[in-house]
Amino acid sequence: MRAVAKLNPTDAGIDIVDIDPPEIRNGDDVIVRVSVSGISGSELNIWRGTYRRPNGTPVERGRILGYEHAGVVADAGEAARAIGFEPGRRVALGSPFIGCRRCEPCQQGLVNRCRDWGHVGITLDGTNCELARLPVEVLQLLSDKVDPLDAAFLNSASLAVRAVARAELTPGDRVVVVGPGPVGLLMLQAARAGGASWVGLVGLEQDARRLEIGKELGADETYVYSDEIAAALRSATDGLGADVVLEAAGTPEGMAAAVDAVRVGGTVVFAGLPPQRIVAIEAIRVTRDELTIRGVEGNLPDDRRRALRLIEDGVLRCRPFVTHQLPIDDVVPAFEAVASGEACKAVFSLNGDVAPV
Ligand SMILES: [Zn+2]
Repeated sequence: MRAVAKLNPTDAGIDIVDIDPPEIRNGDDVIVRVSVSGISGSELNIWRGTYRRPNGTPVERGRILGYEHAGVVADAGEAARAIGFEPGRRVALGSPFIGCRRCEPCQQGLVNRCRDWGHVGITLDGTNCELARLPVEVLQLLSDKVDPLDAAFLNSASLAVRAVARAELTPGDRVVVVGPGPVGLLMLQAARAGGASWVGLVGLEQDARRLEIGKELGADETYVYSDEIAAALRSATDGLGADVVLEAAGTPEGMAAAVDAVRVGGTVVFAGLPPQRIVAIEAIRVTRDELTIRGVEGNLPDDRRRALRLIEDGVLRCRPFVTHQLPIDDVVPAFEAVASGEACKAVFSLNGDVAPV
């Protein structure tokens, strides 16, 4: 069976390898027949050879990539079956992080900060293949009514729901979302679901298609980032600034613009992972305007349950931003489409399970 892997972790490029179908090894193993598996931002950096784990090391050599996915249980160990993961049940990735359950961050529920950090598609084999073996803890059971192309991004949807909760969004708030990628487009929908009265979406010039999708998904206004972005957003909010700003750009400019766009006493939530690590923001505003700045990375089971309900009800939609659906053999064009910004989200279709977008 073919799989997308990384044979030279610090070089640019991607590989197709031939592997044996996985078998159950532990009671909590689930073999998933993958229907759809997406290319995420981390995988783009793995493709470039620039990806580093929190401990500074690259992805392991030969690792099968991919974690955002939806599929069907093909086989499962006894412990997984005991909690409902029977063959034939539909599943999606709930959270890619695997924690030790013992360290301080794990005990707080922040599995993404586990001292013995584990991540599907990075420290264990992922889902860019027809059959994937995953520990049950990373999976979420789905009802039959969910579209696999919506469910595949449950992890991002849960992050968006968590960001809105962390922002303490109040019905009637005006919201700015910076960054029109899949996470930003989910944040915009989650803000709408949370009662935002107005949502502005900010992107770059090359994001024209993403901004258009944002309008379809509920943005009132879209903006192309420029030196005048702060003034434009201020004038759209009666000169006050937004009550809540949700940042999903992961760039120094995007993070600075997020802080500039918020009102006195407002809240900014950062979800971006800027490669520069040190970013300049107008810090004096944080003090004088009593801003609240929070971060969000992982998600908790409660976030996932709420996100899944919103997906099931058609309130959070992912299918509209899946712009490229390709067979696994087209791995190079798929990554190129993501890298150039042409694709908002590219996915691999496997096992003939999902109708074309
Ligand atoms: Zn831990």
